Amino acid sequence: MTRTRAAILESRNAPLSVREVSLSEPREREVLVKMEMAGLCRSDLNAIVGHTRYDMPLVLGHEGAGTVVRAGRNVTSLKEGDRVVLSWAAFCGDCFFCNKGLNHQCHTVAWPRGKGLLPDWTTRFSEGDKPIFHFNGVSSFSEYTVVYETGCVKVDDDIPFEVASVVGCSVVTGIGAVYNSAGVEKGSTALVVGGGNVGISVIQALKIKGAALIIAVDPKAEKHTLIKDAGADIVLSDISIDEIRKATGGFGVDYAFDGVATEETLNASLAAVRRAGIVVMVGYPHPLAKYSVQPIEFHLEKRIVGSLYGSSNPVRDIPRLLDFYKQGRLKLDGFSSGSYRLEEINEAIKALENNGGKYTITFN
Ligand SMILES: [Zn+2]
Ligand SMILES: [Zn+2]
Repeated sequence: MTRTRAAILESRNAPLSVREVSLSEPREREVLVKMEMAGLCRSDLNAIVGHTRYDMPLVLGHEGAGTVVRAGRNVTSLKEGDRVVLSWAAFCGDCFFCNKGLNHQCHTVAWPRGKGLLPDWTTRFSEGDKPIFHFNGVSSFSEYTVVYETGCVKVDDDIPFEVASVVGCSVVTGIGAVYNSAGVEKGSTALVVGGGNVGISVIQALKIKGAALIIAVDPKAEKHTLIKDAGADIVLSDISIDEIRKATGGFGVDYAFDGVATEETLNASLAAVRRAGIVVMVGYPHPLAKYSVQPIEFHLEKRIVGSLYGSSNPVRDIPRLLDFYKQGRLKLDGFSSGSYRLEEINEAIKALENNGGKYTITFN
């Protein structure tokens, strides 16, 4: 049993309460991790405003990096002292989906995860005899947390925690969308809608893959320099089909990555791709949204492809993207717009609400 200070969501739209709670020992295939740094982004906000249906009280935080303190039974890939990146996309390795190579769809882990539980359908956090739930199986806004082995990826000791703490969610998602969901080939042309952390990661992955032309769209003019620096050849303020056709010999792009996922952006992305082109929906739509599309687009053999977590396997893909980082091909420094201590978590949330972006949380 460990005592740990954690940031707890008690009810929707309430400020988080930072206090000491109990954390029980890691069980089968679980590890106890001392957090060094966590990332705060929009998914945490979604839980606060009630776009997710987690039971409360809930320890928030869905990405971060730390050091392994103790491994539970049958943990083979991790030991005390390992530097690790946490990922919410843990998987069992032997279910209907895992056996098809679709680890990111693993239901054995995802079903309890959606209820705030670890894969054995229980919690490790508690206060007295009351359970406290785990956000996304990660709960990184806590000095210590217990996570499932495959959601905890060992990384090299020379990767700084500033970098390791922010790669587990949006960076994996953006790079995976290009590498796994779409399977982009060298020389392709692509449109990227939205220049947030996912969009910037998509652009960088396209560059690494050797895309011939990258057109990015973001309505915020002040972001355009950052988007260009990430590797976009053309940056537009809206999805101008005329401009996109002009830049692609009249055909349209091979791929469109829609990081916004509204009816408007999805239809514009569909219009922007050439015949037999692929739209990858990387953004998270409102869960109850309904869109209308013109099915003639499918007669032209255009496709819309879903992408959850960039169809990524964290154990396979996080070391790969950190290799890109070490080779200087993936820029990850400066991904955080500011750093706050755990006690200042509500100020960090305010900054996120007001300015967007991503923030890091420290524990000392
Ligand atoms: Zn599975
Ligand atoms: Zn996230």
